Amino acid sequence: MRCLKLFALVSTLILSFLFHSTAQTQNPTAQALATPTPTPVPLPPPGVKVDRYRAAAARIIGAALTSDHAYARLAHLTDHIGNRLSGSSNLDRAIEWAVAEMKRDGLDNVRAEKVMVPHWVRGDESLELLTPVPRKLQMLGLGNSVGTSPEGISAEAVVVRDFGELDRLGEQVRGKIVVYNAPFTSYGATVAYRMQGASRAARYGAVAALVRSITPVSLQTPHTGAMAYDPAQPQIPTAAVTIEVAELLQRLNDRGEHPTLRLKMEAKFLPDAESANVIAELRGSERPDEIVLIGGHFDSWDVGQGAHDDGGGCIVAWETIRLLKELGLKPRRTIRVVLFTNEENGTRGGNGYRDAHRAEIPKHVLAIESDSGVYRPEGFGLAATAPPQVRANLLEIAKLLAGIDAAGIGANGGGTDIGPIMREGVIGASLDVDGAHYFDIHHTQADTLDKVNPRELALCVATMAVMAYTVADLPENLADRR
Ligand SMILES: [Zn+2]
Repeated sequence: MRCLKLFALVSTLILSFLFHSTAQTQNPTAQALATPTPTPVPLPPPGVKVDRYRAAAARIIGAALTSDHAYARLAHLTDHIGNRLSGSSNLDRAIEWAVAEMKRDGLDNVRAEKVMVPHWVRGDESLELLTPVPRKLQMLGLGNSVGTSPEGISAEAVVVRDFGELDRLGEQVRGKIVVYNAPFTSYGATVAYRMQGASRAARYGAVAALVRSITPVSLQTPHTGAMAYDPAQPQIPTAAVTIEVAELLQRLNDRGEHPTLRLKMEAKFLPDAESANVIAELRGSERPDEIVLIGGHFDSWDVGQGAHDDGGGCIVAWETIRLLKELGLKPRRTIRVVLFTNEENGTRGGNGYRDAHRAEIPKHVLAIESDSGVYRPEGFGLAATAPPQVRANLLEIAKLLAGIDAAGIGANGGGTDIGPIMREGVIGASLDVDGAHYFDIHHTQADTLDKVNPRELALCVATMAVMAYTVADLPENLADRR
């Protein structure tokens, strides 16, 4: 799941709230002076010298772009193991394979750290239009949803464009299936329908909720993803439909044809299952207790192959240290790869890592998550809360990536899996990529290896490896001034 935009939104809200309350206590007229886009703080001069890394960066980029190792690994993960939902035997097989291969690579401190994860299973599911024209409709149950009875739920559909329209209908949706046909604006904004749609409909007595897939385009491809129930409302089944299905139901609704549907879902939770975060390191030569963490999430939804989300992100982190080791580049600090479990429906991997490594959290110099797909890299997003000196220094380091056009340092960054340690003070960042087509396939049957461009994957490895190596090897500290 790409929570970055959501994460950015939440951070912005928190920051604007903090700014707002401080400004108001300091100056009662501050509200009138505040502008929606605050003037950027000028950055201090960089305190790190990167010229000494030009040769290493060139070697790393050359090696990454002439190797098919990362793609071959991703091909094994996707074609021979497949998708990897928490609690599934596929995820267990992926974890066992990664541990064995990392040991074969000769990486340091390879281990699987046990984490208990939720075990949601989809089972069989279907959606039928009963009237006015009987036909099967494309759907995909939302993760964490409850199921229906075996005979399913048959009811009239009421289509709304947004929550405001639902609120205006209010009790008129009682006993009906609410269909949210909200067009995609951004992932962070539109995902609210997937997350909260069921409970907001249940509040008015709806018996099920269907959500237009969170995507800008569709070829009849439904997109799953996590939903969450409001504990104050009854739990009703909920599923995604394609844009095509949502628009069909909208037209029938608008013509007053009162479409009726039958929804069947076997979805349920089994008892929590044992899983693990996979960890491997390239131990530092001088300051091995200081850590640059890089990673992604090894679990995926139970559709497609979890190729872009987030098999590719995991392979990028893993290949980074394998490649550095092959090149004989041993940094001063430790680079630690973490393949987190259970990002998609629980964040238990991220929370488990924080709990198991609490004592060394202050030793984490930087944490970089790759979970936006493995498209052409543009650079890194850095948490908005990072100190300006760190931002200035990372901008300087990123210049080493100008030759492959990946020297950007975005205004915000982080990730779901590193969120728990970021909240404990670790500076977080994300590998930023060209996201133009990520949400076309995100959480669908179409997130498969053929969507991954081998050269773009290699560029992601090059970008991550240059950044991780340089930050880990700096004689200075990441926050040092000139
Ligand atoms: Zn993801």
